[in-house]
Order: sequence, then C-alpha cells, then structure tokens
Amino acid sequence: SRKNSMTNQGQLTVVVRVRPLNKDEKDRRQFQCVFPLDKQRILLVDPEKYENNILRQNRPHEKLFNFDATFGPNSTQEDVHAATTGPVIEALVAGYNATVFAYGATGSGKTYTMIGTKEKPGLMTLLTQSLYEKINPQEYTVLLSYLEIYNELIRDLLNPQSGVLDLMEDERGNIRVPGLSTVRAPNVNRIMQILQEGNLRRTQEATQANKTSSRSHALLQVTLLKNNRPYGKLFMIDLAGSERAANTQNRGQRLKEGAAINRSLLALGNVINSLSSSKPGYVNYRDSKLTRLLKDSLGGSAKTCMIAHVTPASGRYEETYNTLVYAARAKNI
Ligand code: ADP
Ligand code: MG
Repeated sequence: SRKNSMTNQGQLTVVVRVRPLNKDEKDRRQFQCVFPLDKQRILLVDPEKYENNILRQNRPHEKLFNFDATFGPNSTQEDVHAATTGPVIEALVAGYNATVFAYGATGSGKTYTMIGTKEKPGLMTLLTQSLYEKINPQEYTVLLSYLEIYNELIRDLLNPQSGVLDLMEDERGNIRVPGLSTVRAPNVNRIMQILQEGNLRRTQEATQANKTSSRSHALLQVTLLKNNRPYGKLFMIDLAGSERAANTQNRGQRLKEGAAINRSLLALGNVINSLSSSKPGYVNYRDSKLTRLLKDSLGGSAKTCMIAHVTPASGRYEETYNTLVYAARAKNI
C-alpha cells in the first residue's frame, strides 16, 4: 500500500472549490452549510441540524472531509490555477500527458473555473497562456481541439458541420478522433473566443429559472508538438452535471441521458479509484467513451487532477454531500 501510494498518489490531486452563495440562494434565505476549515479540510453541516426535528437528533450532523487542497468562496482563478493546472504544466513540458476534471452538480461553478469570464479567465486560458510562456516557439507548437461527449456520441465543438466522430485506437494504444479539428491559439483573447463559441454549441437544455443544465462533457485537448512530433497531451474537462447521475426520477430521453452520464461518471470514478487504490486491479477504460478517450492521459505516468465543485447553499445539501463523497472516494481517503 505504501509503495503504491508513492507511485500513484503523487500523480493524482483532488481539490474542492466552494463557490459564493448567489443572490437567488440568499433571497430564498438559504445559508452556508459547507465550510473550508483550512487548506485541506472541509466541514459539511447537515442543515436539518437547525430544524427542531426530534427524529434526526441522533444522526451525526457534521462530516469532515480531507483533500489535497480546498478553495473557499473568496478564492481567485489564480489561486486554483497555482494548486492545480500550474503543476500540470511542468509535467506537460517534461513530455507527460495529463488530465484535469471539473466535477460537480449543475450550477456549482465548473464552467466558471474552467472558462471563466473575460475579466476573470479560467483554468483553460490560464494554463494555455502559462504553457506558451514556458516553451520555445521555435521548437514547440501548441494545438487546441474542443469536443463534447453527449449520450456517448463525440462532436467537434469547433466545427459542428463534421457531425458525429469516431474514436480509434491504434496498435500502440494511441487514441485518436479522426476528423477532429485543431487550431493554433496565439493569444489569450483568441483562446477565450474559441472556448466561448465552442461552449455555446454544447448540447444543453434550459430548465426552470433560466438555468442551463449541461448534459454533455466538454473536453479541451491541448496537444504539444516538439519539432512537429507529438510530445505531450492534456485534457481539460468540464464534466456533465453530476446530479443527472443520481436522479432516478428521469424518464424517456432524460433517463437515457442520465444513464449515459451515469455510465461515464461511474466509469471515471472507478478508473480514478483503481489508480489510487492500494490494490490496483484491472482498470476498465472500455466502460465509457469518456474513459476510452482518456486512456493514454489517465493513469500510468499521466498526471491527473480533479477539481470538485460545490455550492455552499443549505438547499443543495444532498448534492454537495454526494459530490464530496465522490471526490473523497476518488482519492481513496
Ligand atoms: P456549472 O458549470 O457547474 O453549471 P457555473 O460555472 O455556470 O456552474 O456557475 C453557476 C453560476 O455561479 C454562474 O453564474 C457563475 O458565474 C457563478 N459562479 C460560479 N463559481 C463562482 C465563483 N467561484 N465566484 C463567483 N461566481 C461564481
Ligand atoms: Mg457549466
């Protein structure tokens, strides 16, 4: 167990970001139920503690979780970058592959962390920008691709005309998506434009209260070429809302989507869990498109980072609890 934890744990980082309470939550008199205590621990308090519910009195009201890092409502994009994507650049420049995930329910802040705004660019831009600063442009080329996986189908977010794309694996185990477009992104404004345009093409559905729930996984692939040959590869992934996976009320199309999301997130959890496990068994990448696509960028020598997102709102306690359990389980703590 010790040996394994030394070979694998260092490659896997699991952090949690808690976003600020929003106006709507405050208007509905919801209160904060998640508290980052320090750089590593998060306390979750059951909101029912505050209600005089005699049946619940003997239930544990507080749960403590440990992670590699925690970020509270006042954390900046740069804070998160320094602890997550920053170290990933070192691995990439050294020729390793890497994967960074944003995990969490819809509305928890995944897209804010990954894409952000023009004023507060997210990790996809901060990483690409720092990568440019690290490399010699005479020797290296950076290419970007942006795709989505929706209902186990792959589509190019930079070129919607190309339709559904296949996933191929060659004899040497290299994963490819033939027909997927790549672009050079020479500066921050252009990267932001590419991401925002691509994001508008994601398969989405507006639900009640004008919230847009994302049922697709969006993957930014950053390919590093050295003297025009593949050198390192990085995926930055804005995962589908994790609440779909748990919602058993869905029927018809929603059920099918839920099953597909469930399959990907479950397969992902299993793969990550087996990587950090003290008894690594057979790692089943084949279970979903997401894990198949990530096969050569997840596990082995690849660096993996999961950024779990939660809202602090008391009304979302169950979702938050599920997210923290999933994230803690990924790290096998
Ligand atoms: P998700 O992608 O998980 O569905 P979003 O990133 O769209 O969630 O976030 C939901 C809302 O909360 C957005 O209006 C977003 O701007 C805001 N938000 C999320 N995280 C933060 C944060 N760390 N600081 C400020 N606002 C945030
Ligand atoms: Mg989103």
